Amino acid sequence: MINKYNYSPGPSYVKENVRLARAYEVTNSDIDIDFVKYYKDTCDLFNKIIDSDNETYIISGEAILGLEAACATLTEDGDRVLVLDNGLYGNGFKDFVSIYGGQPVLFTQDYHNEISSEALEEYLKEDSNFKYATLVHCDTPTGMINDIHKLCPILKKYGILTVVDSVSGMVGERLSVKESKIDILLGGSQKAISAQPGITIVSVSKDAKKAFKNRKTPVRSFYANLRIWENYLEEQYFPYTLPASDIVSFRVAIENIVEEGIENVLKRHEKIASSVRKSIKDFGLELFSKNDNSNTVTAIKMPEKIKATDISNYILKKHNVLIATSLAEYKDSILRIGHMGENARIEKTLYILNLLEEAFNSFGFKSKKSLTESFIENIY
Ligand SMILES: *Cc1c(COP(=O)(O)O)cnc(C)c1O
Repeated sequence: MINKYNYSPGPSYVKENVRLARAYEVTNSDIDIDFVKYYKDTCDLFNKIIDSDNETYIISGEAILGLEAACATLTEDGDRVLVLDNGLYGNGFKDFVSIYGGQPVLFTQDYHNEISSEALEEYLKEDSNFKYATLVHCDTPTGMINDIHKLCPILKKYGILTVVDSVSGMVGERLSVKESKIDILLGGSQKAISAQPGITIVSVSKDAKKAFKNRKTPVRSFYANLRIWENYLEEQYFPYTLPASDIVSFRVAIENIVEEGIENVLKRHEKIASSVRKSIKDFGLELFSKNDNSNTVTAIKMPEKIKATDISNYILKKHNVLIATSLAEYKDSILRIGHMGENARIEKTLYILNLLEEAFNSFGFKSKKSLTESFIENIY
């Protein structure tokens, strides 16, 4: 059975109107200029959500394609790239930089804390010779939020372009491209946007486009080359056949957000997340992140003697519900609740907390207070 209730930190729950939209009959995106307009309108609508005037593309491919494409299109042989690293996704950017011939320089910080803007500024005073920097808004495996509105302008001040992975941040965390001056913003359809996986959103600034143009060597990719999108509007022609059905359902997911109002969506995330964190602590567990501020995912530090996989397997076998552990070295030590997008609802969160409470109790965990009672006390 692949049909399961899913409370992992992405892909998140997809509402029925989004799922159904995928079944609509669609046009031929190669030759129908009405589709070009529909596509551009969808990009513009998305720009309102991320407060951006930059050029936004909706690209076929899971969010990893966006991460790779940003690095592929910016990097030339020998380019020095500053990789801000306080989490697994943050660290992972070094591989994309290397693949395309760049020289990643890691700025590694404590994985339990957000990146300090003071520490970054101190570092840049000594060395700021970088073409661009990569950073992650919400590092999902550990639930770490970085203050991109503070960090990106500092990097910009030193003439460094910024590439920001906000795949699990956007729509759940406040995000203004205008205020943060992000040069390439990356997102995915399957996290807080609550559409199906398969779309990456890439928003590109004028400065980033200038850097693309100033390259001395061609981009070493076709599919991961963002320049192939530059002229679609003038030419009324896409670089390849677009997955029209994916874009139509993505559009409905965005319309759901616009209808609720992005400010309300953000408040809903904040309210759910802060009550979850409070209830986890009341229950007697600890959070991984020291500044516990992620509104889309809560990473729980497992107590001695209980492994994260014990809990996730129990819930899966007994209730057919998916809950995530973490990745790499955190696989056994972190358990994660996703409360992003359409999963950030009181009834859904209450349901998963109830199962967590049962699972922890069955492994002999001595709780201090009921998880669900604490959640209810805090949410209302
Ligand atoms: C989900 C996610 C991505 C996309 O990666 P997948 O593992 O393929 O889903 C990229 N960056 C971050 C921070 C994410 O949370």
